[in-house]
Amino acid sequence: MTRAQGPIDVVIAGGGFVGLALAIALREALGASFAVIVADPTLGSSRAGDERASAIVAAARRLFETLDVWQQVADEAQPILDMVVTDSRLDDAVRPVFLTFAGDIEPDEPFAHMIENRTLIAALAAKAREIGVELRSTAVAGFSYPPLPGDGRERSLRHGYAPHIDVELADGATITTALLVAADGARSSIRERAGIATHGWSYGQSAIVTNVSHERDHRGRAEEHFLPAGPFAILPLKGNRSSIVWTETSAEAARIAALPDGDFRTELERRFKFELGEITAIGPHLVHPLGFFVARAFIADRIALVGDAAHLIHPIAGQGLNMGLRDVAALAEVIADAVRLGLDHGTADVLERYQRWRRFDTMSMGLATDGLNRLFSNRSTALRLVRDIGLGMIDRVPNLKRLFIREAAGLVGEVPRLLRGEPL
Ligand SMILES: Cc1cc2nc3c(=O)[nH]c(=O)nc-3n(C[C@H](O)[C@H](O)[C@H](O)COP(=O)(O)OP(=O)(O)OC[C@H]3O[C@@H](n4cnc5c(N)ncnc54)[C@H](O)[C@@H]3O)c2cc1C
Repeated sequence: MTRAQGPIDVVIAGGGFVGLALAIALREALGASFAVIVADPTLGSSRAGDERASAIVAAARRLFETLDVWQQVADEAQPILDMVVTDSRLDDAVRPVFLTFAGDIEPDEPFAHMIENRTLIAALAAKAREIGVELRSTAVAGFSYPPLPGDGRERSLRHGYAPHIDVELADGATITTALLVAADGARSSIRERAGIATHGWSYGQSAIVTNVSHERDHRGRAEEHFLPAGPFAILPLKGNRSSIVWTETSAEAARIAALPDGDFRTELERRFKFELGEITAIGPHLVHPLGFFVARAFIADRIALVGDAAHLIHPIAGQGLNMGLRDVAALAEVIADAVRLGLDHGTADVLERYQRWRRFDTMSMGLATDGLNRLFSNRSTALRLVRDIGLGMIDRVPNLKRLFIREAAGLVGEVPRLLRGEPL
């Protein structure tokens, strides 16, 4: 039996970082009369064994601060105070350092913080609930439009023709809304139902992710070791703990992940080295297949794609979520501007402004991370020489290095208001 509900201003499919952050941004900007529903069957929980932590760059942290979420998790976030990049073979005795990033983006503002995903998701869900976002523990199963007058051809010519969209939930409810936002991750069923294709490829690489405890203090240092199979990152967490993001070919990652504990530790220690002393504990590990794609369109009739539903990139530069938060900030700004002008926020003009804003930036960041991965994940000695000269040059030119750090911190280009730390 279906139960009808509505009209609701925005329905968001997916309560990951991106869906929850958007819901909070909209309620805080537009107040209690702006009705927002987030539907997700796994609301507020994370996959068993998923130890992932994320590097939250300065611009993204400003957004969370503006949404009054960062304040709840700040004590559990580890600032990255220093970063080193090395380039070597697996068994090289010494890993020469080619690039170092130190210091703050602004006085007392580190360029990024590391935080465990489950901590941040729990804080976002609590904030959303507190400010009246309706959270529904169910999936979006489909959507439909009211019948069109005439022969219906106009809809494919112009987004936003339909007067509203009806969103069907797996629990049997149907919700009438002005806008459905697909924040349902890389395998977005809404993107597929909307007929939006993606262009991209699989890397044939996977990341093994685990957290370790170690003897010595990391002093806020992040390390990225470019090994021939892919980057091996040691990222500082609160306490004497680090998050390991370890890239291998998918076959090798599956082999390593299936090893008995003792053999897994041996493989880990070969890459970890012992700069931080002995590893005293290893948490559970999961394997994440890695790929790259960008959706051919970020919008359809009364639908907007955000986060991994719109684009997936290699975690080499820790930018996937940060890109999703740029979508959030841009879409929230576009919607808030439209609503304040008394416009219907689900129409083509509004959604196209969002798409124009985000697609170019997404393509350039996506291709940059793709190029970085291709440049580093190989065994060619000639390429190694080229990249090491390149890294060495960046390291020696302070203005160039500063530009790279500001870019990595999300502070370059047409930065939406929330990412500048300004409320909507
Ligand atoms: C190994 C690894 C390390 C990474 N490290 C970083 C990092 O350091 N920094 C960074 O910025 N990014 C990082 N990323 C990327 C980052 O994790 C993702 O970009 C981010 O999680 C995407 O968030 P999202 O909300 O768009 O999607 P997701 O987190 O995938 O959330 C999607 C949600 O949608 C729900 N859902 C699915 N289908 C439906 C449906 N039909 N109806 C309703 N709900 C649905 C799911 O249950 C899920 O909760 C990393 C990624 C990997 C793989």
